[in-house]
Amino acid sequence: MNQIAPQPGIMDIALYQGGAAHLPGMANVVKLSSNENPFGPSPHAIAAAQAALAGMHRYPPTDHAALRAAIGAAHGLDPERIICGVGSDEIITFLCQAYAGPGDEVIHTEHGFSMYRISTLAAGATPVEVPERDRVVDVDAILSGCTDRTRLVFIANPANPTGTMLGGAELARLADGLPGRVILVLDGAYAEFVDGFDGGAGLAGTRPNVVMTRTFSKLYGLGGMRIGWGYGPAAVIDVLNRVRGPFNLSAPALAAAEAAIRDTDHAGRCRAENARLRVWLADALAAAGVPSDTSCTNFILARFASRAEAEACDAHLQSRGLIVRRVAGYGLPAALRITVGDEAACRRVAAAVAEFKAAAA
Ligand SMILES: *Cc1c(COP(=O)(O)O)cnc(C)c1O
Repeated sequence: MNQIAPQPGIMDIALYQGGAAHLPGMANVVKLSSNENPFGPSPHAIAAAQAALAGMHRYPPTDHAALRAAIGAAHGLDPERIICGVGSDEIITFLCQAYAGPGDEVIHTEHGFSMYRISTLAAGATPVEVPERDRVVDVDAILSGCTDRTRLVFIANPANPTGTMLGGAELARLADGLPGRVILVLDGAYAEFVDGFDGGAGLAGTRPNVVMTRTFSKLYGLGGMRIGWGYGPAAVIDVLNRVRGPFNLSAPALAAAEAAIRDTDHAGRCRAENARLRVWLADALAAAGVPSDTSCTNFILARFASRAEAEACDAHLQSRGLIVRRVAGYGLPAALRITVGDEAACRRVAAAVAEFKAAAA
């Protein structure tokens, strides 16, 4: 062969479909397609990032010691067992790169987050999809999907795009049931939205083969800055640090994240507003004839009778300046994922969905 070719698996990767951001020619558009914080980041995070810009001729710290200390203090975790990445997406990439290769299998679930499959293929490994049960991760399906080639299992808890989650007993049963050579990755991107949930930190702190990932992109409103982190056994964190680029996080990103995690008032207000508006929106949609599972996140998975009805409702929402997310690519063609916006946005969504249902009736 005398021509260039990428590594096996790469061309099987479907390009990531992000949430749409624009409706050409439409004013007053609300983007509810990427689970962003409608209230924005902490003003302290903006100020800290701006202050850091003046030093942009300097390389950023490579060990992220200050941010790891702040995260450790906020969550009661050992900073030595924390690694920071360019979004939690980068931690997922590190895990696949370091622990899976050609011939290895990586398990994700039926409606699981698309980055698990993308990072698995990029590492040359084989993604294995196991079923969920009524849009909830099924521990038994994961355990029976394991083979001697399985290296990693990814679940998001709470999950995206379903919004459902497993309780502590089920999580422990999963961790206990997996062979010791398999790493269980608990993606806690939405853990901050669940009162009293540690995101899996307890398991990641006590098991040799459990890792938790977290992000500043959702509750903390820093998706555009790209900051995430992982917590796990010291030996695993050591491995991940070897594949991590030395200057993966910029100085403004580090400064913003540190300020954001210290601003517990802002985070608390955003969490409380999300919880209030999430219930309000779910009830309003249900009253219009659109059911959803109880969400543990900052979005609602609205279910329709068919793919055609979901797509027609999406078109109607767009005509009203509302961008939500189609999730057919996640095996949910008859559903739409709607981020819980601010109160005005929730009212607009509820009114537009009710209008759509009334017109169809
Ligand atoms: C949004 C999201 C993330 C966060 O990704 P970042 O790279 O940190 O922005 C991770 N996992 C899931 C399931 C998500 O929905």
